[in-house]
Amino acid sequence: DMKPLFFPFLICATIILLLLSVASAKPLPEETGGGTKCAICTIAIGLIEQMSQIHNQTVDKEIEQLCELFKPPIRQSCEATVEAYGPIVIKMLENKENGDKICNTIKFCTIPTCTLYPVKSKVSKHQKWTHYTPQIHAANAKMDAIDPWGWLKHIIDVLANKHEPVEDLDHDYYSRIPTLRGADWRGKDCNDVDNDIYPGRKASTGASTPGIDNNCNGIFGTDASGKSYEELFCSGDNTPMGVGVLGDSVGAHFQIPPKYLTAKDINKTTYDHLLYNVEDEFDVPYRSWVTGFRESTADIPSSSIYKKMLARNLCMHRDYQNLAVNGMASHAESTVDVESLARNTKTDNPMLVVFEIVGNDVCKHRLHDMTTPQQFMDYNIASLKYLDTKLPAGSHVLFIGLAQGEILWDTLHNRTHPVGVPYADVYHFLNCLSISPCTTWLTKNATERHLTTKRAEELTQTYQTIMDNQKFQNFDMGFLPFPIVEIMKAYKGPAWQLIEPVDGFHPSQIANSLMADLLFDQIDQKYPSFLPKVNPNNAQIIKIFGQQGGY
Ligand code: CA
Ligand code: CA
Repeated sequence: DMKPLFFPFLICATIILLLLSVASAKPLPEETGGGTKCAICTIAIGLIEQMSQIHNQTVDKEIEQLCELFKPPIRQSCEATVEAYGPIVIKMLENKENGDKICNTIKFCTIPTCTLYPVKSKVSKHQKWTHYTPQIHAANAKMDAIDPWGWLKHIIDVLANKHEPVEDLDHDYYSRIPTLRGADWRGKDCNDVDNDIYPGRKASTGASTPGIDNNCNGIFGTDASGKSYEELFCSGDNTPMGVGVLGDSVGAHFQIPPKYLTAKDINKTTYDHLLYNVEDEFDVPYRSWVTGFRESTADIPSSSIYKKMLARNLCMHRDYQNLAVNGMASHAESTVDVESLARNTKTDNPMLVVFEIVGNDVCKHRLHDMTTPQQFMDYNIASLKYLDTKLPAGSHVLFIGLAQGEILWDTLHNRTHPVGVPYADVYHFLNCLSISPCTTWLTKNATERHLTTKRAEELTQTYQTIMDNQKFQNFDMGFLPFPIVEIMKAYKGPAWQLIEPVDGFHPSQIANSLMADLLFDQIDQKYPSFLPKVNPNNAQIIKIFGQQGGY
């Protein structure tokens, strides 16, 4: 008897890949062969096969318990999916069919040559499953009718269209809840019914009552002589500046927890944070290299430019904005999501904005679709002009060059992906379905990888041209190269630990932490004015205000 614990995988893989594609702000109209749906199905079935060797229960009992791994509303959606496809898939698994064959049979995949797994010799090539066709049609029709994942698509739609806090009562772009572009992304709103109170505000503007913390940095009130603590600790040379990042999934710190796809580790708590992860678009901005604010733990090194700036001047507490969006590339309307920046030239403090779009302009399905240097420069200048209308005078923009994407293939292609096949095969499979995050770099064609790198270098060079020829009223500009190569050279462990295991594409948590440390030092050497000076009042602030309200 089959003992598949596959439904959790089907579900989580569904969510993961929906997020990868739909919420990526990079629509994938060119999907072929079933695209995302096919990949979800195929990967999920592969995980079933691993799981079937680990668990030892009857199918009925297993399925009965499977959806209990999830909390509502995922659980109910899981149960509906189980009801529709369970019987057919189980039957095929019992006959030792693999994911490629099963997903083609149930019409999730439509190009039989786009395969992920090696062909099994045991399986009869002539086994036909056409007698299941009516049942498959019925299952598909039922899923269309009840649409059990509709609520999830709704969340994804909300997040894909607009990258502003969903819960924000006073409409100042700051929220009290962590997810849905809330306080995980930008400092928590300490008063969500007053839009004159939010992080980053100049202490001298807005609410004038000394007892009110109008910039949410946890410093408020007056000393015995009646002088406000903001003025005592956070004015003059100690006036804080904020930090933000505009860019892509590297800035947002995209991360699918590997435990979600590691068959042997699945238990009742594995998916506890699944919905939370969905609501954060599978990003972990709170541990990202620019705006991360959570403490490191024994297992999770977490450094960020924000934390290092904050250590110098505690007055900037909560003044961070992560506006990065998965899939972001330069484009004619706006290079980056500048519109979502919450900053007012008059009422707010200046800030350091890290501007990073490190791959999506060259990560295309075909080389000739890559952004040209002229386009890249024009789009970025348009964004910078808009930025100049929002950033307070004395702000800084730091450009980060494009990534050196060839290291991905070089580092991973021979290694085994968590789903059990080499990364090269995973990349090829995703390319075949036209849903790869970067066909041009994640290909066995070395010439194509080189040409992609060449274009990335050309795009990077345009930042120097902008710095030489453009002038903006409210900010100056600096440039640093994407630091991953330097980090790999210095890192004492194996290079693959610096890349996210599930997607084989993004910098890992270790890499994020090392990037923050290295970049902060480089900014300090090359552009010291971009960083705050050490505030001599820090010890006093800690003494009086402790954790400053936390996060
Ligand atoms: Ca608010
Ligand atoms: Ca507010």
